[in-house]
Amino acid sequence: MAGTERIRRVANIVRRQQEAGHEVAVVVSAMAGETDRLVNFCREANPLFDPAEYDVVVASGEQVTAGLLALTLQALGCKARSWMGWQVPIRTVESHAKARVDAIDSDRLCNAMAAGEIAVLPGFQGLSIDGRVTTMGRGGSDTSAVAVAAAVSADRCDIYTDVDGVYTTDPRIVARARKLKAVTYEEMLELASVGAKVLQTRSVGLAMKEGVRVQVLSSFIDDDAPPADDLPGTLIVSDEEMEKLDMERQHVTGIAHDKNEAKVILTRVPDKPGAVANIFTPLADASINVDMIIQNVGREKGETDVTFTVPQADLARTQALLEDRRESIGFNRIITDSQVAKISVVGVGMKSHAGVAAQMFAALADRGINIQAITTSEIKVSVLIDEDETELAVRILHTAYGLDAVDEAA
Ligand code: ASP
Ligand code: MG
Repeated sequence: MAGTERIRRVANIVRRQQEAGHEVAVVVSAMAGETDRLVNFCREANPLFDPAEYDVVVASGEQVTAGLLALTLQALGCKARSWMGWQVPIRTVESHAKARVDAIDSDRLCNAMAAGEIAVLPGFQGLSIDGRVTTMGRGGSDTSAVAVAAAVSADRCDIYTDVDGVYTTDPRIVARARKLKAVTYEEMLELASVGAKVLQTRSVGLAMKEGVRVQVLSSFIDDDAPPADDLPGTLIVSDEEMEKLDMERQHVTGIAHDKNEAKVILTRVPDKPGAVANIFTPLADASINVDMIIQNVGREKGETDVTFTVPQADLARTQALLEDRRESIGFNRIITDSQVAKISVVGVGMKSHAGVAAQMFAALADRGINIQAITTSEIKVSVLIDEDETELAVRILHTAYGLDAVDEAA
């Protein structure tokens, strides 16, 4: 949400939903830039801030917009009231600043909604087991919205955000990227985890677990925009619903890219049981997330090279941890490269269709792009390439899989 003008627009959207016959609960985020401002206050007050007090400060951004939205709805003649996280309550577990929703007591909320009152809830905030305010990590309002939708058994959770849907790829790279009408939870998780940040990843996992149908829509809508029931955004649904929607589907749904990876090569690692465990156990203990892993073909003398990727932010720690264990692991050299990017093609369609990976490799080879590492899952193929070739690779693949929008004008 931006200023009070945006709140008025939101209030209009909400009122129209109620007029269309829905019972409505609204979960709000803070005004644009507000959470960053509050985080900075915490840093200034005490660089080693206590996460419990940080939560008290940053949760306030959503409290303000919740109250303002309820006031604005009342000014439009609607019945509305705000419900703070602790009033519902939205019970959370685990640490402050990254709490997880555990349970929502929705009875009073549902009764109020059934009586025609619009429920306005601040996103991002909850209540800990010991009765303190918590927040759910940056972008947590998305997760709050899905959790509330699950708790009130909503028909749909519409998330109004600063993009108008989920695209086949980053529209800043490919002008002909298309907005998708629907994606499955699994596809959305893969697209989110490889860099297409539309929703907090956790919110998609929760929607999948709870079976909440989510629609991503633009909050910058005009007054004459199609109503949300016409599904103008992107629906995120289960595999089964996707089949029922029976849309014309490609084998590949979208292309994602991620420049935040770094590559590590350990040379001349002993080719024997336990060697890779010796490499990856200390990284796991340090909570460093390893993504792609390749163990090369053995050389002579019972040695092999091991290549893997870690988040760029963890590269220095990774290097230090491994250097410390050079003797016990028994490698010769450690070579690192952060000028790499991971490009992924994602789509449930590839479960039942052979040749998607081969097509990717051929399209990249055709333009002289070298592949440094590969990983696959049931619905994803990822390759690691030189970071300078990211945009080119995304464009080539978007065209190769037939994802480019065609001109509608004759
Ligand atoms: N206001 C919080 C943030 O900026 C939560 C959210 O907007 O989703 O991270
Ligand atoms: Mg957000």
